[in-house]
Amino acid sequence: PPRVVIIGAGIVGVNVADELIKRGWNNITVVEQGPLDMPGGSTSHAPGLVFQTTPSKTMSLFAKYTIEKLLSIVEDGQSCFNQVGGLEIATTPERLEELKRKRGFASSWGIDARVITPDECVKLYPHLNKQLLYGGLHIPTDGLALAARSVQILIERTRKSGTRYLGNTAVTGIKQTGGRVTGVETANGVIEADIVIACAGLWSVEVGAMVGLSIPLQPMAHQYAKTTPVPASAGRNPLPNGANLPILRHQDQDLYYREHGDQYGIGFYGHRPMPVVAASLGPTASKVTEKNMPSRLEFTPKDFEPAWKLSQEILPVLKESEIADGFNGIMSFTPDGGPLVGQAPNLDNFYVAEGVWVTHSGGVARALAQLLVNGKSEIDLTDCELSRFEDIQLTPSYVNETCSQQFVEVYDIIHPLQPKENPRNVRVSPFHARHKELGAFFLETGGWERPHWYESNAKLLDEMPAKFKPAERDPWAAKFYSPIVAAEAWRTRTAAAMFDTTAFRRLEIAGPGAVDLLDRLTTGNVSRKPGVATYSLLLDQEGGIRSEMTISRVLDDLFLLGVNGPTDFTFFSREARKQNKLGDGKFVHVRDITGGTCGIGLWGPNAHKILSTVSADDFSDAALPHLHLKLAHIGGLPAKVIRMSYVGQPGWEIVTSAENGLKLWDSLWKAGQAHGVIAGGRSALASMRLEAGFPSFGSDLTPEHDPYESGLEFLLHPGKEGYLGHAALKGRSTGAVSKRLRRLVINDGRSVVLGKEPVFHKGTAVGYVTSSGVGYANGKPLAYTYLPISLGEGTVVEIEYFGRRISATVVPEPVHPMKTDEGRV
Ligand code: FAD
Repeated sequence: PPRVVIIGAGIVGVNVADELIKRGWNNITVVEQGPLDMPGGSTSHAPGLVFQTTPSKTMSLFAKYTIEKLLSIVEDGQSCFNQVGGLEIATTPERLEELKRKRGFASSWGIDARVITPDECVKLYPHLNKQLLYGGLHIPTDGLALAARSVQILIERTRKSGTRYLGNTAVTGIKQTGGRVTGVETANGVIEADIVIACAGLWSVEVGAMVGLSIPLQPMAHQYAKTTPVPASAGRNPLPNGANLPILRHQDQDLYYREHGDQYGIGFYGHRPMPVVAASLGPTASKVTEKNMPSRLEFTPKDFEPAWKLSQEILPVLKESEIADGFNGIMSFTPDGGPLVGQAPNLDNFYVAEGVWVTHSGGVARALAQLLVNGKSEIDLTDCELSRFEDIQLTPSYVNETCSQQFVEVYDIIHPLQPKENPRNVRVSPFHARHKELGAFFLETGGWERPHWYESNAKLLDEMPAKFKPAERDPWAAKFYSPIVAAEAWRTRTAAAMFDTTAFRRLEIAGPGAVDLLDRLTTGNVSRKPGVATYSLLLDQEGGIRSEMTISRVLDDLFLLGVNGPTDFTFFSREARKQNKLGDGKFVHVRDITGGTCGIGLWGPNAHKILSTVSADDFSDAALPHLHLKLAHIGGLPAKVIRMSYVGQPGWEIVTSAENGLKLWDSLWKAGQAHGVIAGGRSALASMRLEAGFPSFGSDLTPEHDPYESGLEFLLHPGKEGYLGHAALKGRSTGAVSKRLRRLVINDGRSVVLGKEPVFHKGTAVGYVTSSGVGYANGKPLAYTYLPISLGEGTVVEIEYFGRRISATVVPEPVHPMKTDEGRV
């Protein structure tokens, strides 16, 4: 096995060592700057509450495994998890609804949870003030991690298996040769390594800087206080840290609670954000105590005043106590709240596992170990990928601002479409001024401002035929939505629309080795002549879908790719570096051209008339068939015109360089006026895409599923062999899958779900909604879900939405828009 160095002996680093040992790796050194018995990081003072249920499947499954693991770490007859259960309370009607939604997530991810009445809350938790309660969510398997104890036991256990631990040893530099990590530097010399894993917690930014890697993580102080003994709790629990009552979350006031014997522990997120720079903490002392450790800053009592008042209201028994001791503990936040897991984009074999809560530590460690040993984690890591951020999201000011917002919102009710407030207007397309003139409603993704619909299209609502008129939505589904979306879909289907596709990521892959690179990595036939486009999959070595993409051959050795995100760029770049090192003349270069270019999707039955008005080039079916590319002139501008559509209407994606963008938009817009063109937003595009039968990567398509399960087996080029993932697919077939992506139509014709809701069949949870929308042409809400293969077309299932069951039927999948030609909706 390779030589591994792990930086940091917090709960993450030690679990990574343990999970690697379990998988047979045995040459591991853990380097820790603090003393090993109490290193002084966040783990050393973590109160250890583990609430499992979140909107994220990945995070919830990480938490489930962490519990399983902590329960299995037993010493002196005691495990490292006190399974007291979890109680989340609602003190507003909105929160009660949110808890119902959360119960749905629990079902989706296989966690037992129940929404309970105020009476049931008080029965479970007698100290609660019933007057304030609307209800609660009880999760019997939640509880308390004995985090620091588990670390000490794991250190002993892994030591016995040969892991070396170096305490009081700071890593001061990282050694590398030829783009590959070779070891770490310490005051006592270099430790050589084939793989280095940074598990440095709140010091991540500093460790990243050692290799020029921007780690988007912001350490923040978070207040935690203990009360004096509470008379009502006297004698209930073993001292000092025993607990019997469930861990408690009072999210309407940013508070959480646990018992420490007869004292209460109170955590508070309601204070001002207090960002911390780890480097300012100075070196960790050789002796760390509970009261004196680098991750523990002095308590600022003023910030805690509201918490104490609110705590006495919700738990009146606290009036008999006082604050005994408090501190401002440091923990890590990231711009989107997810952890950072994976290989550094700029340095091979340098991995990180950071921004991880105790709650997810076991799960993250197992995932990373599986990634290293088997090449893939069984739990989808897409949302945790270190490389998921755009460059603009790595700047210290962006990280600081977004992490501060994450801190403020940590317990808020967040709608799935809710955008961040700041920073905004970071990346705008060349058409931005036109979007604003047309009254665009913008949402933000990856720093891009993207129009979701245009107020200027409101006038179409009166012209639109009744068939397209959308049913009224419930208040939650109506958030970040407008009925104008239906009008935009109607116009796209009956005339034409221009969609801004600038934020779709575009890569250029160039050089004599371009065909080789794409051929060995993707499932399609990329060696066809210039001018041909291929819709193709990128698989992992297990045959799971790593990404999907369009690959247009522009010239013999130049390809234009439409991919999904920064992670695809990182992946192709790494593979290109590998190929270039072979020095066999198959040089290849990968460039992200998204920001320097822009795109317009011109789609709809009148699209051809519009394009012909502004170009002398021939765009007829014969001259430019489906999935073909042409270098053309539009409105006097050079452009790449690709015959493809995501919306089930014929047309083109037109790509030009950014500085030409505004003129391109204006030319098409002017020409389009005679043909009823409108600007179409993301919301219409997303719905039409779903309606056309085009599953999306990241929701419908993930590494957890192979092409057969996802209904994309037609993208495996017949006869093609040897590409990444091909070997794993041997023996699999459409007929042999146990589950399949299914399309559902909501039977009442009006209830819109938003994604991740559980799907039940005869009372049993059988899946969850992967994406949803409204098929405006048919007037019916739609959803995708993976279902057991036995639940085929015609099966009636139920989707749980805020505690209500909505009936839906499995319907046949339309022919995929990329399979033949468009225009069938
Ligand atoms: P750490 O425990 O900080 O470990 C990182 C280690 O790396 C440190 O020991 C450090 O010394 C070492 N290190 C760093 N740089 C170097 C270097 N250059 N060389 C050598 N060693 C280095 N999470 C929950 O899930 N539930 C909770 O209830 C909860 N409550 C919390 C309450 C408070 C007040 C705080 C502050 C945090 C809380 N957390 C909670 C968060 C949780 O404590 C952390 O997310 C978790 O402990 C992080 O573990 P870690 O191993 O990544 O980091």
